[in-house]
Amino acid sequence: MKFSEVVGQERVKDNIRSMIIQHKVPHAVLLLGSSGVGALPLAIAMAHAMVCPSPVQGEACGACPSCNRSFKYLHPDVHFAFPTTGKDVTSDNLLPVWRNLLMKKHYFTKDDWINEIAADNKQANINKEECFNIRRKLSLKCAEAEVRVMIIWLPEYLGKEGNRLLKILEEPPPDTHFILVAEQSDQILQTIMSRCQLIKVPLLTDEVLDKTLKSIYPSVTDLQLNTVIQLANGSFSEAIALMAEQEDMNAGILIDWMRKCYKGNGLEMSRWVDEIAVWTKEKQKIFIRYSLHFFRGLLVLPILGQEKSNIPKEMIATSEKLRAILTDKQLEQMTHLADENFAHLERNANPKILFLDLSIKFHQIMQNKFFNL
Ligand SMILES: [Zn+2]
Repeated sequence: MKFSEVVGQERVKDNIRSMIIQHKVPHAVLLLGSSGVGALPLAIAMAHAMVCPSPVQGEACGACPSCNRSFKYLHPDVHFAFPTTGKDVTSDNLLPVWRNLLMKKHYFTKDDWINEIAADNKQANINKEECFNIRRKLSLKCAEAEVRVMIIWLPEYLGKEGNRLLKILEEPPPDTHFILVAEQSDQILQTIMSRCQLIKVPLLTDEVLDKTLKSIYPSVTDLQLNTVIQLANGSFSEAIALMAEQEDMNAGILIDWMRKCYKGNGLEMSRWVDEIAVWTKEKQKIFIRYSLHFFRGLLVLPILGQEKSNIPKEMIATSEKLRAILTDKQLEQMTHLADENFAHLERNANPKILFLDLSIKFHQIMQNKFFNL
């Protein structure tokens, strides 16, 4: 993993890179940042840069055989220890799951991890066995690099077992570095804290989240972005989760709406409208924009195909069904109407009348009874 894959945190990256360039990486550092700000990805990028034999400006080269192993989380000199559940279960037992998750995404929360390893939400910890393992692994020589790195994710979960690591943290074997990645300093033994150089990882700024989310969700509206950024509180993981939640919710409601419009049962449509009418105006606008984005995607779908038409993945099945029954002309009319009504909503139109009117017109269009004069 490269620093360039870590969202924002430019100052922390510069700080770490200059330590690597000057060969001044302390033998134990603690990256402290709240959930989702990127402390773990930073630690991983740091470790990969440290074991790369030909780093570029303090960054893993990404091209050598060593980086090749690092980036698959198979480098023998980059070790991981993390919370596990169940008696005597250690990180080694769960390494395949850990690697898999990291190959899928670099940002995940403690809860994501616990869900991954134990559906019944057992108490997680870094146990005594793990501490023995850490000491045992580090008593061996480096496998191939000049240094080796032990990343301990969430040392908060060491509890009093942390005492077993005090000596090795104080005086690690030669060429050995610890990178601890923590979220809550008050949950870590003071004796561990005092043995590490602290690197604080701040909350992500609104600007960074804004730019990153726009690149991942090109169709996102400013309104939607602002809502998500406000709620995410500087956490990239949280922002991504909120975006996914919104997309899922909007998709579910849009699918339901399309079905009701197609059938044209007045009672069902007005019940649907009643539900939407009590939403905040912001939420209604986000929904219409989402629908508009979907209709536009539908229009270009036959020419561009699923991927390039930017149809949200949760709408793919519906898009195929609708394309099979609607002509370009019908879709153009629906898109035009949604666009027009978005503008009305912005000018404070009554949402109940607006959505009911729109539903009836959609029904007429879908049944070819709509004549736009
Ligand atoms: Zn390399």
